[in-house]
Amino acid sequence: MPIATPKQYAAMLDAAQKGNYAYAAINITSISGINGALQAFADLKSDGIIQVSSGAGEFASGQKVKDSVLGSIVLAEAIHTLASKYNVLIALHTDHCQPGVKDSYLKNWLKSEAARLKVELPADGTIPEAIFAAHPWLRDKKDPKAVDKGLRGGKVDSWLKPLIKETAKRRAAGQPNLFQSHMLDASNLPLELNMGMSQEILKECTPNEIILEVEAGVVGGKEEGMDNTDVDHSKLYTTPEDMVAVYEALNGLGRYMFAATFGNVHGHYKPGAVKLRPDILKKGQDAVVKKFGEKAAFDLVFHGGSGTPSHEIHETLGYGVIKMNIDTDTQYAFTRPIAEHMFRGFDKVLKVDGEIGEKDAYDPRAYLKLAENSVAKRMGEAITDLKSDGKTLFGQV
Ligand SMILES: [Zn+2]
Repeated sequence: MPIATPKQYAAMLDAAQKGNYAYAAINITSISGINGALQAFADLKSDGIIQVSSGAGEFASGQKVKDSVLGSIVLAEAIHTLASKYNVLIALHTDHCQPGVKDSYLKNWLKSEAARLKVELPADGTIPEAIFAAHPWLRDKKDPKAVDKGLRGGKVDSWLKPLIKETAKRRAAGQPNLFQSHMLDASNLPLELNMGMSQEILKECTPNEIILEVEAGVVGGKEEGMDNTDVDHSKLYTTPEDMVAVYEALNGLGRYMFAATFGNVHGHYKPGAVKLRPDILKKGQDAVVKKFGEKAAFDLVFHGGSGTPSHEIHETLGYGVIKMNIDTDTQYAFTRPIAEHMFRGFDKVLKVDGEIGEKDAYDPRAYLKLAENSVAKRMGEAITDLKSDGKTLFGQV
């Protein structure tokens, strides 16, 4: 089966919302990761989502080229081709894309603020003191000269928009979408600006039948160039008021998913370090439904859930989570058997004491196959936890 069409993807999300289950969305960086994920989805007769970060795209393009758009296209095309061998539906997604001051939306906003405050915007990109004074959240980025640092990782113009354009180009030529959904994570901005930018991007997605994932609140921890390890803990929980504001900003502009935060942290921590509060999701959903009716309930996305016990995952499924990102756990699953292969067979993978090692042991396929199978096994656990096993819509939509 080729990659899910936009209609099939929409049917997948609707079925999950209705059936109280969610799709595992695995971050991949290589062909082995892709094959491991596909194996798991097919074995468990589950539909699913495979996603690419800008860092994965950059990596896949080659370390000399470092082109996150090119590499994302390479990975997406590989998934399109490989997925055609399996009888489940797979959707393609891009993960976190945070704006920076060099992205056009923020550039325009800075320009209008400079005009309003009657100050000049220096050509070197530094931000005048008057703008910091009017917008303390910019100052929260600590080093005023390097606001660019806090708001770095600006990838909206350089990664997200080119990928949307790539899909538009393909559609115009009668080809399928490259990706079925993208994430814009403007949660590093105040909610009003976050939603302004989310509206702008959603309007670009909708004519191309692309679903947009947005985020409000902050996912703690570290991932792919985002470092929220020292963020104020109250920001890790999205308020019901914020959830209502997200609905009001985006309703009617096209289909979107929403990563509301409920204490989630990227990375992996020892038990007890992370306090997840799934009830935050329920409170937010209740507030939105109360104001706008049943149909307003969000399709929610669960980030930063590594190490979450099954009963907490199950609780979120009842509150409208339909996608859960899986990255850290499958990164570990990938590396674990490779480490064992190397440590146990160090005299086979290395040429020690004048010996010649063993070709069969240092052939990269020897350990990448182990990694692939281990990813498939870990993904199988995620799929079971999320209750999407046995529920593929392949052949039905
Ligand atoms: Zn995330």
